[in-house]
Amino acid sequence: MSILVVGSVAFDSVKTPFGERARILGGSATYFSVAASFFTDVRVVAVVGDDFGPADEAVFLEREIDTSDLERVAGRSFHWSGEYGYDLNIAHTRDTQLNVFAEFKPKLSPAAKETPYLFLGNIQPQLQVEVREQVAARLVAADTMNYWINNTPDDLRHLLGCVDLLIINDAEAREIAKEANLVRAMRRIIAMGPKRIVVKRGEYGAAMFTEHSYFATPAYPLEDVFDPTGAGDSFAGGFMGYLAATNATDEAAFRRGIIYGSVMASFNVEEFGCERLRRLTYDEINARFRELRAFSHFEEAEMPPF
Ligand code: AMP
Repeated sequence: MSILVVGSVAFDSVKTPFGERARILGGSATYFSVAASFFTDVRVVAVVGDDFGPADEAVFLEREIDTSDLERVAGRSFHWSGEYGYDLNIAHTRDTQLNVFAEFKPKLSPAAKETPYLFLGNIQPQLQVEVREQVAARLVAADTMNYWINNTPDDLRHLLGCVDLLIINDAEAREIAKEANLVRAMRRIIAMGPKRIVVKRGEYGAAMFTEHSYFATPAYPLEDVFDPTGAGDSFAGGFMGYLAATNATDEAAFRRGIIYGSVMASFNVEEFGCERLRRLTYDEINARFRELRAFSHFEEAEMPPF
């Protein structure tokens, strides 16, 4: 089973307390595709400018990600500039330049329209809807961020009405629902459309809600987090990648997906950009999956009356 992803393919300028990089390859669709490519076939829909060169494309091609729906136009690629303080859970956006994304009209190839798993990565909600309407997928998931929640609330509402699953961080969930309590926020968002919500909580892990179920996992306890950029997208890539690889939609599969998502995000933040994911091996993925399982395992018990 394969996955189609639409999102940003970007150049990022990132500053963390541990270092700084200018114009490195990033973007929601990039991190997502590289992570998901460890599980299944991935096809990417996005637009890039003439600053996107062979070394950038190599990041996709070396993972055998299909770039035939990646449009190239004259101009500059999407550029995001962000900074993190010592609380690495919070990205402070310094600048967002849509550039070639401002005029992008996604036109999907016939093969793309047939893809069974669709991930609408973080980009203008209106573009997410345009892609969603062209694809007859069996599972559609979406991400977004405060930038779109604040700037295009009506388009975002429209998007929520046409997806099965929302993968967002806790602050975004509170903003969408206009509700401080996370449990109540989830209920409100479920009433807006998606049947299932995955909430990424940075170093605190991830939680998953449906109307009738709840699941949560801690994050992998890393000592060195270098650059949190792309954590959310590599999480989504591992999560959706596992679901597509197994083609299962039962609760147990979604839970294992959350663990694979957490594993991929934990590797991604160990280095700047996609550098760590490019060197990742299946032995490393499987070892960390087992560790994460052991960290949150506990035996059944029952206290007799004292
Ligand atoms: P995350 O996984 O949430 O850390 O997302 C990181 C990526 O999101 C970066 O590589 C940015 O290029 C990209 N990004 C930042 N702001 C936006 C935006 N407004 N729309 C689309 N992509 C964005």
